[in-house]
Amino acid sequence: MEFDLSERSEAWRTKLQSFFDREVLPRHRAWLEHVAVSRETPPFMAELQQKARQAGLWNLGLPELAADEPGTRLSNLEYAPLAEIMGRLFWASEVFNCQAPDVPNMIALQNCATPEQKARWLRPLLEAKTRSAFGMTEPDVASSDATNIATRMVRDGDDYIVNGRKWFITGAAHPRCSFLIVMGVTDAEADRTRRHSCIIVPMEAPGVRLVRSLRWMGCEDHTAPIGELTFENVRVPAANLLGAEGEGFKVAQIRLGPARIHHCMRSIGLCELLIELMMVRSTERSAFGRAIIQYDTVQRWIAESRVELEQARLLAWRCAWRLDQAGHHGAWRDVSLIKVAVPAMLQRIADRAMQVFGAMGGSEDTPIHQALAWGRLLRIGDGPDEVHLRQIFKMEAMPSWSIADSPYLAARPA
Ligand SMILES: Cc1cc2nc3c(=O)[nH]c(=O)nc-3n(C[C@H](O)[C@H](O)[C@H](O)COP(=O)(O)OP(=O)(O)OC[C@H]3O[C@@H](n4cnc5c(N)ncnc54)[C@H](O)[C@@H]3O)c2cc1C
Repeated sequence: MEFDLSERSEAWRTKLQSFFDREVLPRHRAWLEHVAVSRETPPFMAELQQKARQAGLWNLGLPELAADEPGTRLSNLEYAPLAEIMGRLFWASEVFNCQAPDVPNMIALQNCATPEQKARWLRPLLEAKTRSAFGMTEPDVASSDATNIATRMVRDGDDYIVNGRKWFITGAAHPRCSFLIVMGVTDAEADRTRRHSCIIVPMEAPGVRLVRSLRWMGCEDHTAPIGELTFENVRVPAANLLGAEGEGFKVAQIRLGPARIHHCMRSIGLCELLIELMMVRSTERSAFGRAIIQYDTVQRWIAESRVELEQARLLAWRCAWRLDQAGHHGAWRDVSLIKVAVPAMLQRIADRAMQVFGAMGGSEDTPIHQALAWGRLLRIGDGPDEVHLRQIFKMEAMPSWSIADSPYLAARPA
């Protein structure tokens, strides 16, 4: 088993790191100042995207790019260390067109769209000419069980008519979001996992209404602002159906694997930054006669964070490798493992960093409060911990021996 990155991977990492250091990080303060007063993406984003594309750092999270599609064909394993670098800033992925929820949507379109749908909806996303969202969750039903989704999609001639309400839809409140992939019921009588379908709904279709923007623990996702939407008699051409009728779960699952693992890869990069922040802050500040870093407690927090981070990285990279080797179905268990491990780790490390920073840790001067909120959110978004843990438990094999005859236990006296 080889634990070092391949030469090719190392070369991509060096290239992205140098672009990040040269072009992205120096803009961070300007980015923060811009989003503090405006909900729009800063104008320099387009310029940075152009530079990234020219440098060959484009659409890096899409291993299945077709020959005529723009971007760099990297495997999931090659992408993992790059996503870590992007994860150090909440907005950096967009520079390389690697941001959620667009990338998982691109993957769903790559796998399920017709050639016409690809030309109309996928191509503009690959070119960063538009933004998108995925609408599954609903306020009126427990959406962690996707079979509950109740939005109706009724066939009417060459169209479907969509009625329902969705919330917590990442990216739907972005001013450039032009379409959503919406999940709804097309056949209420079918088997529970065959009732739903996914359809592409243009934001501009009559009857689509952005009811409000939502914040999460007081934080706003400036890259992909979250929206609540209603759909009232929205007429959508049947040609917008993504996959066949009844394949809504299949479409959702194809996009959810990459969505989850990409969040985890970025979160690992964010944890690296949190450890660096703890190191620097506790070295620079003294209390009761010595630098804070000299206290055992702080050293222990940093060391424990390192232990957890290295474990999570190995798991994430194995998950990426399995996704490359065995596809979505083969990587399913690893995706659940990483989806539980990383958000909990991020939450713990962010909590330690906040403590090390004192009052400043909870202020908007550091990214720590956002990291804490992000870790907390990831324990619910894309499927709550409990749902993944249940799946992991179900796959646990029962040993063939019993307690009474186990060779691992001492024999009972006769
Ligand atoms: C910031 C943010 C962004 C999001 N972005 C999107 C998006 O872009 N698109 C989208 O469609 N959705 C999105 N979501 C929604 C997210 O996917 C759902 O919140 C999640 O699936 C849970 O659904 P729910 O909120 O309806 O919780 P519920 O289904 O009501 O579940 C509540 C709780 O019940 C418990 N529970 C549920 N099932 C089990 C079980 N099997 N065993 C034990 N306990 C269980 C869990 O503790 C769970 O947290 C986002 C959420 C957040 C917070």
